[in-house]
Amino acid sequence: MKKHNFYAGPSILPQFTIENTAKAVMDFAGTGLSVMEVSHRSKEFVAVMDQAQALFKELLHIPDGYSVIFLGGGASTQFAMVPYNLLNKKAAYLNTGAWAKKAIKEAKLFGEVEVVASSEETTFNYIPKGYKIPEDADYFHITTNNTIYGTEIKTDIDCPVPLVADMSSDIFSRPIDISKYALIYGGAQKNLAPAGVTFVIVKHDALGKVERNIPTMLNYQTHIDKESMFNTPPVLPVYAALQTLIWLKDNGGVEAMEKKNIEKAQLLYDEIDRNKLFVGTVAKEDRSLMNICFVMNDEFKNLEAEFYQFASERGMIGIKGHRSVGGFRASTYNALPKESVLALIETMQEFEKMKA
Ligand SMILES: *Cc1c(COP(=O)(O)O)cnc(C)c1O
Repeated sequence: MKKHNFYAGPSILPQFTIENTAKAVMDFAGTGLSVMEVSHRSKEFVAVMDQAQALFKELLHIPDGYSVIFLGGGASTQFAMVPYNLLNKKAAYLNTGAWAKKAIKEAKLFGEVEVVASSEETTFNYIPKGYKIPEDADYFHITTNNTIYGTEIKTDIDCPVPLVADMSSDIFSRPIDISKYALIYGGAQKNLAPAGVTFVIVKHDALGKVERNIPTMLNYQTHIDKESMFNTPPVLPVYAALQTLIWLKDNGGVEAMEKKNIEKAQLLYDEIDRNKLFVGTVAKEDRSLMNICFVMNDEFKNLEAEFYQFASERGMIGIKGHRSVGGFRASTYNALPKESVLALIETMQEFEKMKA
């Protein structure tokens, strides 16, 4: 039976990425060696790193004055690395979910943190608006897509201080105006590559402004200067990321992805709104294009486990909601075909016919 992969992360990757990476595990760039057993300083791998950086810049239209670096440690290490490098006295954060909270906790180790707004009291089911960003903050931190709750900041906001964004789960899902950001980071395992590589897009003039000493490995400047080769980079995930970047380019780039993502999300949200059994969990204007969360309508609450079972039997994988929200979450990342969304919709309709 065809499997439809709705996992939130690690999550679906293009078949192109998986096949090419599998080939390179056997024979990398005609070397007769596996990509797992070649030096990261070999000319073949240096070419991979260079091409990955170049395609990142090309696909996201990254202007001069920014670097793209590939690190280990996941987005979670960035929660600390950002304030280590950027927070002198005070930073501002928007609290839109569990990941934002973790970022806030780390920032507090380095200075004053002003949480400008939070939607925690309603389980993060909307993006706060109308908040004021303090002009004396060293930066303002947002999480553009809240993977767990299914809310998303879908536009590039205007910000009076340097803007920092965790884009772990929506990078490459839409065009972004990079010039509005000082720094963007994310773990690759949601929309780009297998777990193990973390991307950081950083504006050079955002750095060098803090007074503290920064350990070499945690200093962005180290990795900019050494082009992500200061120490051994995560070679295999970087190789896989490059394949996804090539796939993105071959498929019309982020502009084409955005169109497809809007179409897929719209189909599924329309069904959630139409179907008597289900209801969406977040404010409509803040609905994520990447993680679509829904629960059973009140009068059908007792059918949750049964629907999960029913959907699993039809090849729907990974639709269980995060434990803090419950219900269901269908992640519709770039690599998820429309066909999978249609299969889920059909499953919801069949179940409705049986029950409502
Ligand atoms: C998954 C996720 C993280 C954590 O990423 P790790 O690479 O596991 O550290 C952080 N932020 C967001 C928005 C995420 O979705």
